Amino acid sequence: MNITAFSHATRFFSYKLKIVDLANSYNQGIPPAGYPERIHRVPAMNIPIIHCSTCGSKVNTEIPPGDHRPRQVCPSCGQVHYLNPKLVVGSLPVWEDKVLLCRRAIEPRLGFWTLPAGFMEADETLAEAACRETFEEACANIELQGLYTLVNIPHINQVHVIYRARLLDTGFHPGEESLETRLFSEQEIPWDEIAFRSISLSLRNFFEDRRRGSFTQREETLLPGTAHLP
Ligand SMILES: [Zn+2]
Repeated sequence: MNITAFSHATRFFSYKLKIVDLANSYNQGIPPAGYPERIHRVPAMNIPIIHCSTCGSKVNTEIPPGDHRPRQVCPSCGQVHYLNPKLVVGSLPVWEDKVLLCRRAIEPRLGFWTLPAGFMEADETLAEAACRETFEEACANIELQGLYTLVNIPHINQVHVIYRARLLDTGFHPGEESLETRLFSEQEIPWDEIAFRSISLSLRNFFEDRRRGSFTQREETLLPGTAHLP
């Protein structure tokens, strides 16, 4: 066995050990050594599935054969219910030196300011979702200027994606989910009243990049915190 093959074999063996370790610890309710607490916590799931969506039976939590994470499995029809992250997509629309924000008319964070964004629908592209959400929340017409920030939020099973955008006119007004829509200069941004950390992060990146004179695509990860939701 050459060194590369040996190294692959060692890694594979250590991976298999980890699977067994995770399964044993899960059954005992203890996070396995070396596993981040959040990975162990995922099976409890923020949104547990109680009944199988295929046949209606009550599901069990177990590690299916060949898998390495606890899943919700239907004992009647065998369906494995995978819980995958949801995509929240939006835009950062700019008019001259100002950014368009919406004040939320719905929970969570009713009354707080945000960029127009929302859950991606099943039949659309990321770019279509960004434009649709911007129109729904701010009745604003935009031209996208490229992907800007991608924010992983593993503890709530979400990924937030924000595009930079150019407002095509100032005919925007609040949609159903907004109380108010307004353009803000950097000095006017109500930082203490921004609804979500992913949004304040995108805004801070934007103003920093604008000062530098070039915009860089970024990927960030937010861990649980109390400063802002989520
Ligand atoms: Zn079922």
